Amino acid sequence: MRSDPLEFDASAPAPHPSPDELLVAVRACGVCRTDLHVSEGDLAVHREHVIPGHEVVGEVIAVGAEAGTGFAVGDRVGIAWLRHTCGECDYCRRGAENLCPNSRYTGWDADGGYADFATVPAAFAHHLPAGYSDSELAPLLCAGIIGYRSLLRADLPPGGRLGLYGFGGSAHITAQVALAQGAEVHVMTRGAEARELALGLGVASAQGAADQPPVKLDAAILFAPVGDLVLPAMEALDRGGTLAIAGIHLTDIPPLNYQRHLFQERQVRSVTSNTRADAREFLAFAERHHIEVTTPQYPLDQADRALTDLVEGRIAGAAVLLP
Ligand SMILES: [Zn+2]
Ligand SMILES: [Zn+2]
Repeated sequence: MRSDPLEFDASAPAPHPSPDELLVAVRACGVCRTDLHVSEGDLAVHREHVIPGHEVVGEVIAVGAEAGTGFAVGDRVGIAWLRHTCGECDYCRRGAENLCPNSRYTGWDADGGYADFATVPAAFAHHLPAGYSDSELAPLLCAGIIGYRSLLRADLPPGGRLGLYGFGGSAHITAQVALAQGAEVHVMTRGAEARELALGLGVASAQGAADQPPVKLDAAILFAPVGDLVLPAMEALDRGGTLAIAGIHLTDIPPLNYQRHLFQERQVRSVTSNTRADAREFLAFAERHHIEVTTPQYPLDQADRALTDLVEGRIAGAAVLLP
C-alpha cells in the first residue's frame, strides 16, 4: 500500500540553473525504488515537496557561465543520484566521495527528473554511451551504476558464482554485467515474470525469493529491500563469500546465528551511493558491452501509477517516464 501519492503539477515553472549548472530538457527519467523511499518518508525529508527522479536523460539547453567546457548546448547528458560532494573531507580526499557527509542528491536535496526540465552541476553530469535510446539509458544512471558498485563490493572472484536477491531494474542490468565478465549467475526473486526475464538473459537458475540456489555462492547482492532475506542469502554463501546489500533502505535484519550465517569468513556489507569514478567506469563498460535494458514506459503524469506498480512487483525490468 502507498501512503503518500505523488501529485502532478502541470504548471510548475522551469528551474533556474546556478552558474555552475546545466539546464536540461528531460527526454526520459527512470523510476527507482529510492524515489519511493523519498516519497513515502522511509528516508528523512531533505527538501519539502522535492520532485523525485535521479535517472535523467536529456538535452543540454543552457550552460551556466561557470559550468566549464565539458558540455555544450545540444549535447545528450545524464543526471544521476550524486550531484555534489565537498572535495575537502577525508573521504573525498581518499577517493571515497560516496561517503562524503556533505554530499547532495538529485531528487532528494534538489529537484529531479519527474519533470520537463532539470538542472545539474556540470561537474556531476555524465556523458552517455552510444548505441542506446533515451529510455534505455535512463535506468543505467542509478540501477546500472549502483548495481555496478554493488558488484564491486560483493568481491566476486573471476568466473565465480553470484547470487542476485530480487530481480528488478538494477539486478537485470547487473546480471548482464556479471555474465559479460564470465560469472555464473543465480537469481532468487518472487515474481514469475522476473524469473523468466532472468532466464532469458542467460542466468544459470532462477527460484523463489528465499529459496536456496542449487550451488553455494561466492558472492551475492541483495537488491530487494527486505531484511529477512539477509538470512537465506548468508546461508547460501560458500566459505569466504560476501553479501553486498545494494539498497539505501532495508527493513530490519532478524538476528543472525554466528555458525549458520557468518562463520567461515562470510561477510555482509552495505553499499552507499557511488563515486563519479564508478559511474564513468560503468558507463564505459556499457558502451563496450551492449546491455539489453527492459523499460516499461509511462507518461510523466502517470508517475504515481509507475511507483505503485513498482511496490506491487508488477514491473519487469526498469520503468521509465516520458515527458
Ligand atoms: Zn567530502
Ligand atoms: Zn536510484
